[in-house]
Amino acid sequence: MFSNVRGYAAFSAQQPLGLFRFDRRSLRDDDVAVEILYCGVCHSDLHNARNDWGNANYPMVPGHEIIGRVVEVGPSVTRFKAGDAVGVGCMVDSCGRCASCARGLEQYCENQATYTYNGTDPQDGSTTYGGYSERIVVSQDFVLRVPDGLDLAGAAPLLCAGITTWSPLRHCKVGPGSRVAVVGLGGLGHMALKLAKALGAEVTLFTRSAGKEADARRLGADRIVLSADPSAMGANAGRFDLIVDTVPYVHDVNPYVPTLATDGTLVLVGYLGPLDPMLNTAPLVMNRKAVAGSLIGGIAETQEMLDFCARHGIAADVERIRIQDIEQAFERMLRSDVKYRFVIDMASLKDAA
Ligand code: NAP
Ligand code: ZN
Repeated sequence: MFSNVRGYAAFSAQQPLGLFRFDRRSLRDDDVAVEILYCGVCHSDLHNARNDWGNANYPMVPGHEIIGRVVEVGPSVTRFKAGDAVGVGCMVDSCGRCASCARGLEQYCENQATYTYNGTDPQDGSTTYGGYSERIVVSQDFVLRVPDGLDLAGAAPLLCAGITTWSPLRHCKVGPGSRVAVVGLGGLGHMALKLAKALGAEVTLFTRSAGKEADARRLGADRIVLSADPSAMGANAGRFDLIVDTVPYVHDVNPYVPTLATDGTLVLVGYLGPLDPMLNTAPLVMNRKAVAGSLIGGIAETQEMLDFCARHGIAADVERIRIQDIEQAFERMLRSDVKYRFVIDMASLKDAA
C-alpha cells in the first residue's frame, strides 16, 4: 500500500479544496503505479467538487487528465515498465464483459464504468481518488501510452478534453469536406477546433465572447460566429454536418438547430439535464436533424487520438498553475477566463504543508 499519499480534496460543496492525505492500494497483478506530473483542470472537476450533479462523495480528490511516469508495475503487467510516460483519463475500470466493453465503448459499460474519482472500485468497494495527487494506481488496461514528442503538460488535457471532442468527430466521420461547428471556446472547445481542423474539416466557432476571435483563428477556426447576433446566426442556416456543443450550463439550443444541414447532428457534450427553453422538434423533423449526446471515449479510441495528436503536433494550450491556486482557477473558469486549459504542475504539491 502507498500510505500518506498527498492530494488536494474537496471536503464539501462550499469549502475550498485543501490538502488531504490518503492511501493508495497495493499493486494488484495487472496494476501500474504512476507518479503524477501534471493534471488538467476540467470543468467537470468544478461541477463535481461543487456537487452540481448531486452525486458527490467527500472528501473528493478531483482530476481525470493525468500525465505521469510509471514507477512500479504488478507481476502480470506486460505493456508498461518503470519510466514510461503514461496517461490516465476519466475511467479506471469497466466490467470488460458486456456488449459495450466488447466494442471498445468502456465509457458506456452496461455495468457502469468506474470513474477515476468519485467512483467506487468494483473489487474492494473503496472510493476512487483522482489526479490532484502525487500518485495513482490503475489497471494497465486503463493506462494510455503517451507517444514520444508530445509535450507532457500539453498532453494532459487530451485525456478528457481531447477524447471527448475526438469521439463525436470520429463517430460522425468528419474529414475533408465536412463542415463542423463548435459551441463555446474553453478547454473542450479549443481541442475541438484543433482536432476538427486536423481532420480536414471546415471549422466554425460559435461563441458569446467577441474577444476570442483571434485566438479561435490561431486554434483552427476558419469562421467565427457570435451566437448572440441573430443575423450572423441566420447567415449560417443549413450549413453544418456536426455541431459539438461544449457549454457547461443550461442554454437555448434552438438557435443552433437551423444551422444544421439536412442529416446534421448537434452533439451535446457539456450540459447534463433538461433543456430550458425546451427543444422545438419541428426543425428536426422537417430536415432529419438530430440532437444527441456523447460521453468521453473508449480506451482504444483515446490511444488513437493521442497517436493522431503526436503525428499532427497537437497538444492543448495550457496555463500551468500550482495546486495551491486551484480555487482561483475554478473562479476564472466560471468567468470563461481560461486560455485554454489550466494544468496543475504536481511538483507544487511537494510544497503543500
Ligand atoms: P470551460 O473550459 O469552462 O469552457 C466552457 C465554455 O463554454 C466557455 O469558455 C464559454 O465559451 C462557454 N460558456 C460557459 N458558460 C456558458 C453559458 N452559461 N452559456 C453559454 N456559453 C457558456 O469548460 P470545459 O472544461 O471545456 O467543459 C465544458 C463542459 O463539458 C462542462 O460541462 C464539462 O463538465 C463537460 N464535459 C463533458 C464531458 C463528456 O464526456 N461529455 C467530458 C468533459 C467535460 P465562450 O466564451 O466561447 O462562449
Ligand atoms: Zn473532464
